[in-house]
Amino acid sequence: MPFPSFLALPALLGGHLLQAPADATAEARHFLLDSRRVGVPAGAVFFALRGPSHNGHRYLPELYAQGVRQFVVEEEATLPGGIAAYPGAGLLAVPSPLAALQALAGAHRAEFTGPVLAITGSNGKTIVKEWLAQLLSPDEDICRSPRSYNSQVGVPLSVWELNPARHTLGIFEAGISEVGEMARLATIIQPTEGLFTNLGTAHDAGFASQGQKLHEKLQLFTGPQLQRLFYCADQPLVRAAVTQLKLPGFSWTRQPGQSADLYFTAEPAAAGSSHVRAEYPATGLTADFMLPFADEPSLENALHCLAVLLHRQVEPTEVQRRLLRLHPVAMRLEMKPGRHGSYLLDDTYNNDLAGLALALNALARQSRPGRRTLILSDVLESGLSRTELYARVAALLPAAGVTRVVGIGEEISGELRMKNEELGIESGLVPDIGSPQFLIPHSSFLIQTYPSTEAFLAQLSPADFAQETILIKGARRFGFERIVAALEAQQHGTVLEVNLDALGHNLQHYRRQLRPGTRLMVMVKAFAYGAGSYEVASLLEFQRADYLAVAYADEGIALREAGISLPIMVMNAAPDSFDLLRRYRLEPEIYSFELLDEYLATFANSADTTSQSPLSVPGIHLKLDTGMRRLGFDEADLPALLARLRTDAVLLPVASLMTHLAAADEPGHDDFTQTQLAVFRRMAAAIETVLGHSVLKHALNSAGILRFPEAQFDMVRLGIGLYGVDASNTADPAALRPVSQLRTTISQIKTLPAGHTVGYGRRGLATSSERRIATLAIGYADGYDRRFGNGVGTVLIHGQPAPLVGSVCMDMCMVDVTEISLARAGDVALLFGEGLPLPPLAARIGTIAYELLTNVSERVKRVFVSE
Ligand SMILES: *Cc1c(COP(=O)(O)O)cnc(C)c1O
Repeated sequence: MPFPSFLALPALLGGHLLQAPADATAEARHFLLDSRRVGVPAGAVFFALRGPSHNGHRYLPELYAQGVRQFVVEEEATLPGGIAAYPGAGLLAVPSPLAALQALAGAHRAEFTGPVLAITGSNGKTIVKEWLAQLLSPDEDICRSPRSYNSQVGVPLSVWELNPARHTLGIFEAGISEVGEMARLATIIQPTEGLFTNLGTAHDAGFASQGQKLHEKLQLFTGPQLQRLFYCADQPLVRAAVTQLKLPGFSWTRQPGQSADLYFTAEPAAAGSSHVRAEYPATGLTADFMLPFADEPSLENALHCLAVLLHRQVEPTEVQRRLLRLHPVAMRLEMKPGRHGSYLLDDTYNNDLAGLALALNALARQSRPGRRTLILSDVLESGLSRTELYARVAALLPAAGVTRVVGIGEEISGELRMKNEELGIESGLVPDIGSPQFLIPHSSFLIQTYPSTEAFLAQLSPADFAQETILIKGARRFGFERIVAALEAQQHGTVLEVNLDALGHNLQHYRRQLRPGTRLMVMVKAFAYGAGSYEVASLLEFQRADYLAVAYADEGIALREAGISLPIMVMNAAPDSFDLLRRYRLEPEIYSFELLDEYLATFANSADTTSQSPLSVPGIHLKLDTGMRRLGFDEADLPALLARLRTDAVLLPVASLMTHLAAADEPGHDDFTQTQLAVFRRMAAAIETVLGHSVLKHALNSAGILRFPEAQFDMVRLGIGLYGVDASNTADPAALRPVSQLRTTISQIKTLPAGHTVGYGRRGLATSSERRIATLAIGYADGYDRRFGNGVGTVLIHGQPAPLVGSVCMDMCMVDVTEISLARAGDVALLFGEGLPLPPLAARIGTIAYELLTNVSERVKRVFVSE
């Protein structure tokens, strides 16, 4: 499909041209929404979107410098530097760049004449979409949303990939969180077929009722072009709404007597599979299938897919063949430490261009220094010639900084070998690569190829990848999980899984509470509340937090060595670390005259103060004690402090003034909090008068952000809230997502006859009847508190609670699984996370969520996941 020229955009989208591009033939080939992800600037159109805490217009200069020459901006916006700052660029002003992006995608969609299936519902959208794409791929060339790109921005990006010359079917998912959003998605996707997965309770916050939520979701299917809507008739609200809206439904049921187009019965069969019988009530015809799942959610998702296949009249034997190849969808990218100081991004589920582009974005976001390597299987993409396909792959690499590619598979190794031959290189090191397809500005670029995963593993020496950041991206059939296993650092049954998407979500939640212009400092002390400093800091840097704070200098140094460049405040810097602070650009909190003297002395001794520009001394953060009675200058110290500032102000770059609230989360002490804030205002005003200028001021922690919005000053200090815990109990419970999940595995299960005891001191109760006891691979040395022993704590196994029995040991503990007949050795046990929220768990042993999070010991492996 021809791409619209930039000059044609006003006719398509409205708005007016502020400036025509110097290149009148410039085309809108791909969309750019983020200045951090410029891949190929030619053909890129930047849409300057605005959000609660984001203003895309700020990044125009950066984008222009990177070569981007097409911009869609807001009519009202002032462009940094004015139009004159963008010579030769096309600038189109529209009322809403988001609406323009959506309209452009809608116009593109309208040119596609094939079928387009839209999927929505509360749960299972992404899995049903992925499964349908797998199941229909033998018959169709499918364009589908990458991962869960289902939002106001994700949908236009997904639909833009539709190409009538290649695709015969589009499958897109649509997700909403507020009223009014679905109608917009419907005009972009313009579905000819629909699938409604189910109506659950997720995202209830944006809707008045279940009915309103359902009505809103069904807006996706009310367009005139809709021919069919697949749904499950066993949801009464959904059934009634489909009838009421007179939608052309195709339904299935599992309830005998319920009227529907298909009737399924499903029974558990051997080894976690299910036997499904499909019956057409109209004709009485039946067909039998085996599904490789037994759990309810998978079964429901699979039955939706089966309904679509049967409606398309795919032969039952063929349907069965395809169903057996379905696999659970793990559409997440996992990040974890590798051997020899390497770091792995593990994405071994599928490998098409869209998925590869997303995974490379994740690689681009890493700040670790050192080489970036891509281990890549054949890319499975229908419709493109190999040469074109791998040229596109190559075009994606520079933005992610990849300088080493290991290609695995017959196709990719053929292509990359050819590339090496073109360059006159046998294999191995390619110096100063000048090929137009591998425009990588590095002095050495390494391409290695192997015909198969086995061939690669046979010669693999993990030390060859020392210190590298490695993206491992392979289609399922290449079994790249074996490569991950070979490169991964020591495996240990206990894992703290940290969900980076949830972290990003919580960050946005708090950002929305900030008044415009308020900066955000994020506390990453104590190993980022146990979650892992580097990964959290790296995400925060990507999300453009303004400041980080750590407790000790060595925590800050570790972040700098991992490539983090945000300003970092150190709350408890010892005088002997002051020299290091300067070397690593770390800014200390100064809370006493002694510390102030030491700080001045350090720099007076280390350099001649006349030639020393004051800026090269890291800024200091003056801590004012207004009632916490922990650290800081008291109000009584103020006259002496002011005197010092008068004499030494030139030497002391005061970066901020801060105080800490003693009871921000306790309404009973709100009067005290107000007094603290008043003292802070008074002290800060006096200091600013002496300094002769205003400085950043900050007082609020997570609870304070939600409870005292009027006291945000210039910056706030977000801590526990980022990790999904609402210390103040004021957030909407659905607003924060749990970030961390601690889990381990069952090492062994024993059957205990009545009268026996469990563990040290025989404290596990003598049982009055036979019990099944599971031993878990976690103990107090891993940070699982000993106070959970003897029935105080519970873990979840197969979603069911199992109480602790006996004392928690150093490396193990025991739980009663008598009621959980499914439990087997090797199964996963959840210690906290979804279904086991931290605050009530902490309350059981008389502590707070902070302690449970920060106690997880460093020997527990952290795995970071992201969609
Ligand atoms: C830890 C800390 C915070 C963050 O507190 P939360 O309750 O986790 O939000 C803020 N300010 C200071 C000085 C801190 O030490």
